[in-house]
Amino acid sequence: MQLLLVEDEIEIQSFLKRSLAEAGYQVDAAADARTAERLATEGKYDVLIVDLGLPDLDGFALILRLRQLGVTAPVLILSARRSVDDRVRGLEQGGDDYLTKPFALAELLARLRNLMKRNVPSSEVTRLRVMDLELDLLRREASRSGEVLHLTPQEFTLLEYLCRNPGRVVTRSMILDKVWGMRIQPDTNVVDVHIYRLRGKVDTSGRPPLIRTLRGVGYVLKDR
Ligand code: CA
Repeated sequence: MQLLLVEDEIEIQSFLKRSLAEAGYQVDAAADARTAERLATEGKYDVLIVDLGLPDLDGFALILRLRQLGVTAPVLILSARRSVDDRVRGLEQGGDDYLTKPFALAELLARLRNLMKRNVPSSEVTRLRVMDLELDLLRREASRSGEVLHLTPQEFTLLEYLCRNPGRVVTRSMILDKVWGMRIQPDTNVVDVHIYRLRGKVDTSGRPPLIRTLRGVGYVLKDR
């Protein structure tokens, strides 16, 4: 597994490089966005770890630039910025996960494993299972605890998107983009309405609710 670590603080960079190597990863490191861009476009990485505070370019801008250049590897953002705005911005600009400094190494490793799992080509997956929720992608059928849920095609697609990102925050813009194919969030509550209806079918009374709302941020499908 090949990682690209973009971190300008040399102490953190060498600590992470050493720890990740001990965990079995092959790590290339860059201390600025320019080097990161060169390495990311030349090499083949399974995951990119990107610090937001870089000397030559903001980490957000770097991620955007890499996506425009066709780099599709998942990006784990590292940042000292804790604000909800920054997390949302990071996720919307092509980041796949967000870890705030300081963090425990064990958490970084767990998130990396998670991102790698997610990166497995999804075309081979025909069933998704999260908690007691099960989706048959060929028959487009969803069930909870074996009980069939009667979903509209749009609700199924929305639930499938949530099930492909269990335990991860998905913003309204991400849902609009992935489920409705709209890039920019128009002034619409289509996502909220569909989540509301979906919740009425998935999280019926007597069952532990799976779809969580993070006010002002988006939604999370509980996975434990
Ligand atoms: Ca930095």
